[in-house]
Amino acid sequence: MGSIGQPSQRVLIIGAGITGLLIAQGLEQAGIPYAVFESEDASATRRREWTMVVHWGLPLLEELLPEHLSKRLSETYPNPSLDYHAYPNNTHRLYDGNTGEMMLERGVDGRIVRVSRRKLRALCREGIEIKFGHALDKIVFDDVDGTVTAQFANGAKETGSLIVGADGAHSAVRRELFGPEKGSATPLDLTFLALTARYSDPEKARFVAAAHPVFCVVAADDGIVFMAIQDVPDPERPETWAIQLYMNWQGKDESTTTNEERQKDMRRRASKLAEPFRSAFLWLPEDMEIKYNDLAAWVPSPWDSHDGRVTLAGDAAHAMPPHRGQGLNQAIQDAQNLVEAMKTIQQSGDHQPAIVQAYSDEVVERGGKETRLSLEASRSITLEAFKKGPWVKHGLGKVSE
Ligand SMILES: Cc1cc2nc3c(=O)[nH]c(=O)nc-3n(C[C@H](O)[C@H](O)[C@H](O)COP(=O)(O)OP(=O)(O)OC[C@H]3O[C@@H](n4cnc5c(N)ncnc54)[C@H](O)[C@@H]3O)c2cc1C
Repeated sequence: MGSIGQPSQRVLIIGAGITGLLIAQGLEQAGIPYAVFESEDASATRRREWTMVVHWGLPLLEELLPEHLSKRLSETYPNPSLDYHAYPNNTHRLYDGNTGEMMLERGVDGRIVRVSRRKLRALCREGIEIKFGHALDKIVFDDVDGTVTAQFANGAKETGSLIVGADGAHSAVRRELFGPEKGSATPLDLTFLALTARYSDPEKARFVAAAHPVFCVVAADDGIVFMAIQDVPDPERPETWAIQLYMNWQGKDESTTTNEERQKDMRRRASKLAEPFRSAFLWLPEDMEIKYNDLAAWVPSPWDSHDGRVTLAGDAAHAMPPHRGQGLNQAIQDAQNLVEAMKTIQQSGDHQPAIVQAYSDEVVERGGKETRLSLEASRSITLEAFKKGPWVKHGLGKVSE
C-alpha cells in the first residue's frame, strides 16, 4: 500500500461473472492492479447456460476486451456460422401465440448479436487469473490507512483500495452495504419455465427453428414464450441443434409439485398455442425434467461508498427481469464506466472518493430506470398487455438517454 491515507490502487473484484471479468479485462489493459474472487469452483461456473442479446452494449464490449479477444467474439454466438449482421438475423420477431401471425419484426439502431453466456464467460476469462472457492463473507474498512479488506468464507483475507461487488443478483457485497433485508433481491411474482429442447428428428428441429434463426417472442392469452437458438454445433444437421424455450406467466406456481404435474401443465398451456410453438413443447420427451427459474429483482438506491472504497456493478447493482434483454448491456456499461473511473483515479492520484461516488450515482440512476422498466415488461405478459407494454413501445432501446 502507498502512503497513509492514500493507498496504491488494487481493485478487489468479487464475482467472476461477465461483469467482473470485463472489469478485470479493462483494468488489465490499463495496467491497474486487481484480483478476481469467485465463490464457486472452476467447473460450477460453466453449468448455468442461456443466450443473451447484445445490442447497444456491443461497441463497449468490444472496447473492454483486448483486440485479440474482441476479434473472436463470433466464437461466442450460438451459431458461429451465421452472419448476425444480415437480415433477418439482425431482427427479432413478435408472434401472436393464438394465431401464429407475425405481428412485428424489428431491428435496432446499430448492430445486434446474440451470445452464449457460457461461451462469452469463457472468452472473457482468457488471460485473467481467478481465485475460485472465495465466497465474500465480510468487508472491513481501515480508516487509518484508507484501505478495505475482503474476508472470505474460506478464511482468506485480501486488502485493496476498492472492492467492486460484481457478485450477481444475490450479491453479498450489496447485503454488506444495505443489510440483509434492504440488500436482498425480491422474488418476482411470475413462473418462468426454462428448458433446452433437442429434437432427434431433423425435420422437427427445422420446423421449430423456422420461426426465427436467432430469437422470437410469442405472446398469448395467459403468458409469453421466448424461443432462442442456443447452440448449433453443425448447421447442416438440425438434430444437433439446441433450442431454448421459455414459457412464463403471472403468479408463482405452487400447484405443481411433481415433474409429472409440471409436464401436464406445460402441455396444457402449449396446446393452446399456434404452430410451430405448440409442437415445440408437445414434441418434448414426457419424462424431461421441467424446471422453473427463480427470478428476482433489486431496484437500486444510493449506497455509501465509504470514501470511494466499495461499489457495485452488473446484476449486483441492478437485478432486473430478462424481459427487455437489458441486464448484460447495462452491466457492460457499468464495467466500461468503472474502468474509465479507475483510469482517472490513476492519473489524478487522490480523487477516489468523489470519482467512485460519481460512478455509483450514475449506476443507480441509469440502472434504476431500466430495472423499473424491465419490471413493467415482466408484468405485461399477456397478449393484450404485451402489445401496449415496454417491449413493443421501446424495442430493445436504451432508456436512460
Ligand atoms: C434467462 C435470462 C435471459 C437473459 N437474457 C438477457 C439478454 O438477452 N440480454 C441482456 O442484456 N441480459 C440478459 N440477461 C441478464 C444477464 O444474464 C445478466 O445481467 C448478466 O449475466 C449479469 O452478469 P453478472 O456478472 O453481473 O452476474 P452473474 O452472472 O450472476 O455473476 C456473478 C458471479 O458472482 C459469483 N458470486 C456470487 N456470490 C459471491 C460471493 N459471495 N463471493 C464471490 N463470488 C460470488 C457468482 O458465483 C457468479 O459467478 C438474461 C438473464 C436471464 C436469467
